[in-house]
Amino acid sequence: MTGIDSLRNVLELERRKGYTDKAVIGGLDKYLHKQAGQIRQSINNPQLVSGFDELNLANSNYGSYGVDERKRWMTNVLGWLDQLEKTTKTNSSQKVVVSSQTAAAEPRQERREGLDSSVTVIKGITSSVAIKFARLNVRELRDLLYFFPRRYVDYSQRKPVSELIEGEEQTIIGTIWQARVATLGNRKGTEAIVGDKTGNIRVVWFNQPYLAKSFHTNDRVVISGTVGLFKGHKVFASPEWELLKDKELIHTGRLVPVYPLTQGLYPRQVRKWTKETVDGYVWQLGDFLPSEIKTRCQLLDLPAAIAQVHYPDDLTMAERARGRLAFDELFLLQLGVLARKRDWQESQPGNAFHVDQEVISKFLRCLPFTLTQAQERVLQEILTDLKQAKAMSRLLQGEVGSGKTVIATLALLIAAANGYQGALMAPTEVLAEQHYTNICGYLSQVGTQKQGSEPGEGTIRCYTGFLSRPLTIALLTGSLSSNEKERLHHKIGQGEVDIIVGTHALIQKEVEFNKLGLAVIDEQHRFGVLQRSALRQKGFNPHVLVMTATPIPRTMALTLYGDLDISVIDELPPGRQVVKTKCLEPQDREKAYSFLHRQVSNGRQAFIICPLVEESEILEAKAATTEYERLSREVFPNLKLGLLHGQMPGTEKEEVMRRFRSGELDILVSTSVVEVGIDVPRASVMMVEGAERFGLSQLHQFRGRVGRDKEQGYCLLISEKLSPEARERLRLMEKVHDGFVLAEKDLELRGPGEFFGTHQSGLPDLKLAKLTDLRSLELVRQEAITLFQSDPNLNKAEHQPLRQQLSRAWSRGAEWS
Ligand code: ADP
Ligand code: MG
Repeated sequence: MTGIDSLRNVLELERRKGYTDKAVIGGLDKYLHKQAGQIRQSINNPQLVSGFDELNLANSNYGSYGVDERKRWMTNVLGWLDQLEKTTKTNSSQKVVVSSQTAAAEPRQERREGLDSSVTVIKGITSSVAIKFARLNVRELRDLLYFFPRRYVDYSQRKPVSELIEGEEQTIIGTIWQARVATLGNRKGTEAIVGDKTGNIRVVWFNQPYLAKSFHTNDRVVISGTVGLFKGHKVFASPEWELLKDKELIHTGRLVPVYPLTQGLYPRQVRKWTKETVDGYVWQLGDFLPSEIKTRCQLLDLPAAIAQVHYPDDLTMAERARGRLAFDELFLLQLGVLARKRDWQESQPGNAFHVDQEVISKFLRCLPFTLTQAQERVLQEILTDLKQAKAMSRLLQGEVGSGKTVIATLALLIAAANGYQGALMAPTEVLAEQHYTNICGYLSQVGTQKQGSEPGEGTIRCYTGFLSRPLTIALLTGSLSSNEKERLHHKIGQGEVDIIVGTHALIQKEVEFNKLGLAVIDEQHRFGVLQRSALRQKGFNPHVLVMTATPIPRTMALTLYGDLDISVIDELPPGRQVVKTKCLEPQDREKAYSFLHRQVSNGRQAFIICPLVEESEILEAKAATTEYERLSREVFPNLKLGLLHGQMPGTEKEEVMRRFRSGELDILVSTSVVEVGIDVPRASVMMVEGAERFGLSQLHQFRGRVGRDKEQGYCLLISEKLSPEARERLRLMEKVHDGFVLAEKDLELRGPGEFFGTHQSGLPDLKLAKLTDLRSLELVRQEAITLFQSDPNLNKAEHQPLRQQLSRAWSRGAEWS
């Protein structure tokens, strides 16, 4: 008799005896405390194990209850037992293999090694296998539990041999009559004849002669695969197979998981290992989600979800499992961003700025243009934030050329007017330098520049006329000499510089601001959340303005930037035109070159972007150099070409950009470093090689670099021969000129990882959650907000598992306090 059966007997007896605690000698509690562990072991459905745990029989307190309480308790436990029985029954009738054939499934071997143990505790995972798993980011048992199949093959349709249908995925259970090494085609393989009561079928495995050894006459075997026809006879060719022993089927006869693999990992092994891990360890996961949320959102328990996502009972369960796990991902993400926002805004007071209208008007009067309505609106939103004694946390979105920099400059000016320092961080030196030049350009309209007197002060300028004192602005990049850097660090530390423009160099630990009050971060998606907080920590809770030219779809904004308020400049300055865009194939390249020639002879300039080389800036730089040499020699020998890539020293880059901007160069050959922000009014052609490798948003950014004055701009996208779908995607560039629409498309077609490189962003991984599903996202967000409001620091006892999970999810460097 199993533990479950005797438990039921005891409880029924207790009920019959009128809840007098006389059913067992010594009382029910003593019995339960002793037996609970064993009973638990005999439950082989992980979904029910957690239900069992909730009954908490190991710590039962029956003896101390009054009769009414005892009745309630009894109904509860017996109800659970009924449910267990029901599930076991339906399960065994649904499964292909009924239990009389498999013998009763073995009790699950619950194992005690912690989930942070190395995967090598699983039998068969040697250290060299572990290295292969590490390539898939699977190192600990927990990772293996969270190593999800990409999809499933449906081998659940069991058929008698006589009813097999050609061309469908089906499963048979039969007996091996014969198995041998055979020559199939002209290679050795394995051939077997398998039969059941209704007939026999030939089964062959190409190129796997060694399989013959695994099969013996009269072995029972399960074969899953597609039935084909060979010389008029049905045959299984290289199907999945599994000998029928006392184990649950994992390769055949069910929904079989298909895992992502890497060289040297094979599907059968991986399935065996994931099964063993799930069976042995999933119980340790517990569940970190509060049960009200699970009930409200109808979510599976975590252990059940993990078990089902690997080895689902059916597609509905697989879907539900994925739903639960996707919920977790988004929920943890949301809680994390909410906590960040709270930390920044509420844990400590921010600096309320006084906004001096005089300073603003003075600045605006001197611009050669008036602000667009959208710029006006956004400026007011920002100024309103700056006046609060609560740190601003705002994302400013606006297409390339929509005029974000002017707005940022004004905000920096306000900070300076309040006696605070302001920093502007850009993702590349080229951009930092350009911002510096532009800001200086704006300021010089008003102020008179005081030249620095010390040598090496080219990166510091000083303006009078804005404030009651001189306004100092400096450029800090990695390419300064260490002497210059040191001097600048000193000045920054002393508060002798008001506005500092720079690259990552700004967040190095040597940089200590005297009084940082506003941090502006340009082109956000190049920076991770972590860099965002690094700059934030340089000041005493400074205001933060993040600018991006990549339109961010609403779902994305809610998740990845859920900690930021959002402003949008949705209007371009007047007179901007649509850049004519054309997708071309390699054979059109010559025509494209002559077009460039003509444009240059009309006094225009052109960009040629080299293909993206993922993962290696060095290779990308090399490829760009080769292309530059070829173009200079063979295609445009009479024109002046320049080369720009990420490996060049900053001074060289600046020099090339300066020459291009001044019109000294006709064509700039570049890697994707020009993607963001570069402003060259006379450039009219953007030619992109290997266009298919870039995201649509990125291409849109490139395109934004041309047509910046009255002259028509052109964008030529050259790609390899493409599949119809890939071609269709690229073609969108010809028709669509709205960055938001392109961004939505990108997200839909390429997923969030591609879109923003979430891997580098310090955010939790999203493996299952779809960021395109706005509805479920808003549901999750609502749940997160509700929970956050009721227990913002997750201090309640019942939230401790959640708190732990949260810090685990955000662990890659991101602190949770
Ligand atoms: P973004 O940073 O959003 O790409 P910028 O601030 O660099 O855009 O502005 C792009 C160009 O447009 C700059 O040359 C800038 O001087 C100019 N500009 C900005 N705002 C306006 C406006 N309201 N009217 C006309 N030109 C503008
Ligand atoms: Mg810009």
